Amino acid sequence: KPSIVHCLKLLMLLALGGVTMHVPDEDDVVASLGALRLDGHFSFDDAHAAARDFGNRCSLLPAAVLHPGSVSDVAATVRRVFQLGRSSPLTVAARGHGHSLLGQSQAAGGIVVKMESLAAAAAAAARAVRVHGGASPHVDAPGGELWINVLHETLKHGLAPRSWTDYLHLTVGGTLSNAGVSGQAFRHGPQVSNVNQLEIVTGRGEVVTCSHEVNSDLFYAALGGLGQFGIITRARIALEPAPKMVRWIRVLYSDFETFTEDQEKLIASEKTFDYIEGFVIINRTGILNNWRTSFKPQDPVQASQFQSDGRVLYCLELTMNFNHDEADIMEQEVGALLSRLRYISSTLFYTDVTYLGFLDRVHTSELKLRAQGLWEVPHPWLNLLIPRSTVHKFAKEVFGKILKDSNNGPILLYPVNRTKWDNRTSVVIPDEEIFYLVGFLSSAPSSSGHGSVEHAMNLNNKIVDFCEKNGVGMKQYLAPYTTQKQWKAHFGARWETFERRKHTYDPLAILAPGQRIFPKAS
Ligand code: FAD
Repeated sequence: KPSIVHCLKLLMLLALGGVTMHVPDEDDVVASLGALRLDGHFSFDDAHAAARDFGNRCSLLPAAVLHPGSVSDVAATVRRVFQLGRSSPLTVAARGHGHSLLGQSQAAGGIVVKMESLAAAAAAAARAVRVHGGASPHVDAPGGELWINVLHETLKHGLAPRSWTDYLHLTVGGTLSNAGVSGQAFRHGPQVSNVNQLEIVTGRGEVVTCSHEVNSDLFYAALGGLGQFGIITRARIALEPAPKMVRWIRVLYSDFETFTEDQEKLIASEKTFDYIEGFVIINRTGILNNWRTSFKPQDPVQASQFQSDGRVLYCLELTMNFNHDEADIMEQEVGALLSRLRYISSTLFYTDVTYLGFLDRVHTSELKLRAQGLWEVPHPWLNLLIPRSTVHKFAKEVFGKILKDSNNGPILLYPVNRTKWDNRTSVVIPDEEIFYLVGFLSSAPSSSGHGSVEHAMNLNNKIVDFCEKNGVGMKQYLAPYTTQKQWKAHFGARWETFERRKHTYDPLAILAPGQRIFPKAS
């Protein structure tokens, strides 16, 4: 059951200053929006489902859920709320797959737009995912489409997007509103660096097409824009030829410096792997049994016999794409690249899987966790971007002291290049050429003790506290801030642009209230 303590605090904050807040309900929505002619419909029965998310720690009940049957439904709804003006407390939140961590796609007493309904409506009208080949291959996808469906469609044409997230059951509009980062980002940048065009419904209810050349300010604003400037109803995403297979490799290190030096060496090389990530393994023995189960190394005997002896280990995870007739060349290239690395020599594990199987790997784990009732538990995740210059200091404290003997989920750690990120977008990153994505992906299956939200939050707070007090220069990714003061600090010098864009595209602050950046104008 989601804890609502945090959310209650938020509602109290909203009511501060002696203003009595009227939380709209079904009657208000019918009175305000009932006259709209829609291709889809409003629903009041699934409000509770729209008040849940993957984080499972925040539940804000909307007044209604819009199941749009067309882009004009989204535009008409937002336009009507805009016309109601400051006297109406109604807000509008696009909901992708609801995989936010702390209510970011929710709207207390507002309207949640179920973007997957729009994707389904587009599919029914044969306007869903459209793939274009040629010299600059790309795909046009509805904002509410899941990336896994985009992949299935593009693979039919032998093509695939270039930049991914680790998990594909997320929506196009949802990840583009954050950044979309995975092991391809070192080469192609995050997903927001791989978009050619967007169709957006702004906070005034206007439908605008934008790109690098046309309406570029809105285009860059919306990329990584946390849903603040408009609802992405369509995205044009760059594609590349898709390989059939990948060699998926894991090697272990016991020394953090060697591990990160090798990671950085790999991301700096022209000729290198196609995917480069890494993770931290804290104080576990027989650790290979705990690796994500979709990875089945070809030498399982050796793998299960490897003991970490309680040490912190660092796992470098790599892939090399290949087609069946290129297996020999792939073997040679992998051999040459691995020979330059300094991992513990007995810890080379690999497996060959289809490209689809690799990209959809986390879904395999999801199904297993769901079967055990461990997917819909609270997820007090913490995602940090740490500059290269401080990552060693960070690791020494965090892996050596704070998390010495406990963590409740994977800890990702891998470097990316700043040059592949476009600083015209709204994404906030550290001010350094190379920075690391460090993700503490904790689950909290129990209500007390080591498996509780409280325990995980205590550790998260210690980590953030350390960063803040020791000049680590960290930025949070998928940041769960709850006050404008925190957001201003997060954006730093870029706050002015962010705020100016908000006034331009959503002047009444109708959109994405769950990010808690701008209160609805009253
Ligand atoms: P939601 O959570 O529904 O929405 C996210 C925010 O965007 C909300 O504020 C919402 O109002 C807004 N929004 C949603 N749709 C639109 C739209 N069409 N237009 C405008 N605003 C919109 N992220 C990574 O970068 N890399 C990873 O490897 C990665 N792995 C993940 C693995 C798992 C298991 C999970 C649960 C999440 C992972 N994420 C990762 C985080 C992911 O990017 C976020 O959860 C993101 O919010 C996408 O989820 P969603 O599509 O469900 O969007």
